[in-house]
Amino acid sequence: PTVLLTGASGFIAGWILRYLLDREYTVIATVRSNEKGEYLKALYPGVSKLSYSVVPDIGAPDAFKDAVVGVDYIIHSASPFRLNISNPVTELLEPAINGTTGILYAAKLYAPQVKKIIITSSFAAIQHVSKRDYPGHVYDETQWNPCTWEEALACNAHDAYCASKEFAEKAAWDFLAKEKPNFTITAINPPIVLGPMLHEVNAATINTSCSVIWRLMNGSQKIVPVTPVHLWVDVRNVAMAHILALENPAADNQRYLVSAGSWGLEDVCQYLLKSFPELKGKVPTAKNELEATEYYSGDNTKSIKDLGIEYISLEQTVYDLAKQLISWV
Ligand code: NDP
Repeated sequence: PTVLLTGASGFIAGWILRYLLDREYTVIATVRSNEKGEYLKALYPGVSKLSYSVVPDIGAPDAFKDAVVGVDYIIHSASPFRLNISNPVTELLEPAINGTTGILYAAKLYAPQVKKIIITSSFAAIQHVSKRDYPGHVYDETQWNPCTWEEALACNAHDAYCASKEFAEKAAWDFLAKEKPNFTITAINPPIVLGPMLHEVNAATINTSCSVIWRLMNGSQKIVPVTPVHLWVDVRNVAMAHILALENPAADNQRYLVSAGSWGLEDVCQYLLKSFPELKGKVPTAKNELEATEYYSGDNTKSIKDLGIEYISLEQTVYDLAKQLISWV
C-alpha cells in the first residue's frame, strides 16, 4: 500500500518514514523544497518505494491536490512547531488548521480510495493549558484544551501553539461528522517528544522539543529550567503509534494520548551528568525554586491496550538523544 506522509523532513515524521519503509510501504513524502526531498532520498539510497512531493505551504489552497492522488493512507504530521514567531495567526493557527482541513478535503475530492488518515495531534489539544500544573488532575483522551480563538490571539506563543493543535484536531473531527468521507481518522496526541533525530538539523535549527535537552547541554543555563510540560514520550514510540494505528481497525476514529509518563528536567540533568561526565560545568545543577512539586498526570492505558506500545524509559531516551547532541557541544 501507498502512504502519503506530510512534513517528512521533521523530527517525528523522520521516524515515521523509517518505520514505514521498514514495513515495506510505498511512501510519498511531502517536503517544502527539492533540497529537503533529496536529503531524504539520500538517507535511503536505492529505495525505490520512496518518492517525494514538494508542498511549500500546507495552508495554501489545494496544497495537497497533486500529492494525494493514488494513495491508500495518509499520515499528516506537518504543522508549525516554532515558538519564535511574531504573528500567531499566520504562523501557527492558520497553517495548522488549514493544513489539516486542506488534506482532508483533498483526500475526499481527489483520492476517494483513501481508507484512513492518521493525524499527529498533540497533548496540547487535550491539556487545559491555562490550569498549568493542575495538581492531582489526570488527563486522558476524553478531554480537550478549552482555549477559545479570542484567547489564542491574546496568549503567548507556547499557548498559541497549543491552541493551533486544538483547533486543527477539532476541525478534523468536525470534518468527519459533516462530510462523512470514505476514510476514518485517528489522532495521535503525544506530550513533549524527545529522542534521537534522523532529520537534518544543527544547533541553530534543532526542533523545538529536542532543543529543551540541547539547552541543558550547551552551557546556556545556570539553574535547571522549569519543566515545560509534565508528560513526555520517546519519538520512536510516537512514530510507531502512527503505524500501529494505521494497521489496527480498533484505532479507527479514535484519539490516543501516547505518553510514557511524568518527567522533570532535574532528572534529565542527572541522567546527562551520569552518562556524560564531560558535561560537568555545562549541565545546570542548581534547583529551580519555581519548579512544581505536584502536577497533573496522564492515563496512557488506551494506547497500551489498543496499540500495544511498550514505552521507552526516560534515561534511555535522554542517552540516545544526548549521544547525538554531544558532538555539537
Ligand atoms: P518539526 O518542526 O521537526 O516538524 C514539523 C514539520 O512540519 C517540518 O517538516 C516542517 O517543515 C513542516 N511544516 C511546518 N509548517 C509547515 C507549512 N506551513 N507548510 C509545510 N510544511 C510545514 O517538529 P515535530 O516533528 O516535533 O512535529 C511534528 C508534528 O508533531 C507536528 O504536528 C507537531 O505539532 C506535533 N507534535 C510535536 C511534539 C513534540 O514535542 N515534538 C509534541 C506533540 C505534537 P520545515 O522543517 O521544512 O519547516
